[in-house]
Amino acid sequence: MSQAFVIDGKAIAARVRADVAADVQRLKREHGLTPGLAVVLVGEDPASKVYVRNKAQQTVEVGMQSFEHKLPAETSEATLLDLVRKLNNDPSVHGILVQMPLPKHIDSVKVLESVDPVKDVDGFHPINVGRLCTGERALVACTPVGSVILAKSYQHDLRGLDAVVIGRSNIVGKPMAQLLIREDCTVTIAHSKTRDLPGVVRRADLVVAAIGRPEFVRGDWIKPGALVIDVGINRVTGPDGKSRLVGDVAYEEAVKVAGAITPVPGGVGPMTIACLLKNTVEAAQMQRGIPAKAA
Ligand code: NAD
Repeated sequence: MSQAFVIDGKAIAARVRADVAADVQRLKREHGLTPGLAVVLVGEDPASKVYVRNKAQQTVEVGMQSFEHKLPAETSEATLLDLVRKLNNDPSVHGILVQMPLPKHIDSVKVLESVDPVKDVDGFHPINVGRLCTGERALVACTPVGSVILAKSYQHDLRGLDAVVIGRSNIVGKPMAQLLIREDCTVTIAHSKTRDLPGVVRRADLVVAAIGRPEFVRGDWIKPGALVIDVGINRVTGPDGKSRLVGDVAYEEAVKVAGAITPVPGGVGPMTIACLLKNTVEAAQMQRGIPAKAA
């Protein structure tokens, strides 16, 4: 039986980082500009600590400046807003990322909206969300940007495809749908209230799963030859008692039907930080009035 082409997110993320490193050298040489990324972590969430460490390490590896701000869990909202204000006004900082989730006593919407939109490398500020929708130059959420790069690595021209995005979150599903509209796909957004989800998915040439439920999308939902991008990252315990990561798609089933598929781990996951670095370069260029490089 034929097997889907497996899209290698690790290798493609390495290529994105190499492009970013080359862009950083060009900005230093031609504009005397070293892009800088500030990451703010409040509290001790173990997963967040790992993300922040990886982000800082990769930022330095591509030749950018990294600024880390680690604040205790009891930090007040006012103190955090004050730090964001300082970073907004610091010319050596081109990108600001406030690691989510924040402690419960802090209003995360207020904090995200306090970030200067031109430094909003997460692409969560309503100004950037609006610009994405209207097709203007915008900073766009990293995971959807990475997902589109993976899809296009297999099929460069997505024009006219029937795409189904499962999940309507602000950080994945909605921006993903907008990016696919930009790619001239015919987009359906499915979610927890969708009727006959298997039937909706069966019509899709391109399926993006961003649900947060382990192996939820079954192989017999996939149209033969479809392109499957699995955004889900779920930790499950196997019958042997060992924990492992699985996606939102039942990979072993889907790989037998799809034309191409992203694995978990090693698919969308590695793209997120690579695209954060790419967004930081774009933010630095926007702040200096340097045009974006043609894709
Ligand atoms: P979320 O919980 O905010 O949103 C999940 C969405 O799935 C919701 O819109 C909901 O309507 C939909 N949904 C839930 N149950 C459903 C059902 N039974 N049928 C159809 N739709 C259903 O999650 P999120 O933040 O968008 O993340 C989704 C997944 O992607 C998670 O596994 C998360 O870990 C992963 N993720 C990965 C990366 C990465 O770097 N690769 C980044 C962000 C999120």
